[in-house]
Amino acid sequence: MSTKLFIPGPVQVSDKTYAAITTPVVGHRSQDFVDLYQSVQPGLQRLFHTKDPVFISTSSAWGVMEGSIRNLTRKKVLNCMNGAFSDKWNDVSQRCGLSADSLKFEWGQPIAPEVLREALATGEYDVVTLVHNETSTGVMSPLEDIAAVLGEFPEIISVIDTVSSFSVVPILKDEWGLDVILTGSQKALALPPGMALFTVSDRALERAASIEGRGYYFDYLEFKKNHDKGMTPSTPVIPLIYGLRSKLEDIAEEGIENRYARHAHLNSLVHDWVARNGLELFPVAPEFASRALTCVKNTRELDIPHINQLLRENFNCVIDGGYGRIKGKTFRISNMGDETEATISELLGNLDHILNNLL
Ligand SMILES: *Cc1c(COP(=O)(O)O)cnc(C)c1O
Repeated sequence: MSTKLFIPGPVQVSDKTYAAITTPVVGHRSQDFVDLYQSVQPGLQRLFHTKDPVFISTSSAWGVMEGSIRNLTRKKVLNCMNGAFSDKWNDVSQRCGLSADSLKFEWGQPIAPEVLREALATGEYDVVTLVHNETSTGVMSPLEDIAAVLGEFPEIISVIDTVSSFSVVPILKDEWGLDVILTGSQKALALPPGMALFTVSDRALERAASIEGRGYYFDYLEFKKNHDKGMTPSTPVIPLIYGLRSKLEDIAEEGIENRYARHAHLNSLVHDWVARNGLELFPVAPEFASRALTCVKNTRELDIPHINQLLRENFNCVIDGGYGRIKGKTFRISNMGDETEATISELLGNLDHILNNLL
């Protein structure tokens, strides 16, 4: 049996999903494919809380993250930075040859809406990027409050990485007036890696139409043109779309609100375990803690690689030993995807057993 993953992506994939993925492929210009593509749209639009089309990209999320800034930036992009993933976005902007500034917050801190307002008020920017749930630090920024600030600057297009918060908490794209929302398959959707999903507002499409050098593979207008025919620009990862169709059935059966509530509850079980064991959350305040994973400050200087080895040998599972420059100083436990009270309680019980008896 393979090792069960409690890392914040890729997460454990269910047998049902794996079975769906082995459905024989069809031609990507056939009516069968059009039927498949169109069958997932309503479920995706419900999950994205939008009336805009949801595009399917055969790439990981970074492809769409890079593509988005290339599709949208005419003047200058502002990259909000408060952890490893958002920091990297500024690096990517520069590597694309774009004019880019960073708005930095300490790791562990959320993006502060009023600081963002000040930066945007300079009038220098026409695109802003941010990571809703910084997976490296376990911090979830207050997206609704941020969206209210963005609403004050109608000329600025927002690109929101919701890779690790999508389908974990409600992200009300249309109601909050967000432009681009993107996510990846291997986080809370609990699919294997290799597919990204994104939705684009009309005004973001209009902006893209005015930009030269969008390239081909991630060109928004190519996605839109093909979407209108029930297709993707190039040959898509059809097996993962079968997996997605199966996952959307699971989500409809559970109910989206129940899904959000389950993630919140499982996350609170991990938070309780952290407090019970004399550890602390890495995020500066509990209200900014992610609901998808828990980033724990390793105040007891636990030997995480050793704990992971014991978890693997005794219980056939792993957690995550921290990411980027806070590796070892923190560790992370994921509760996203298909986890249940039983699976999370079992993991926490196994960790207790290791801490109390095996170290
Ligand atoms: C996992 C993750 C990514 C990276 O996704 P890839 O699939 O590696 O492209 C980006 N942003 C966040 C917040 C993530 O958690």
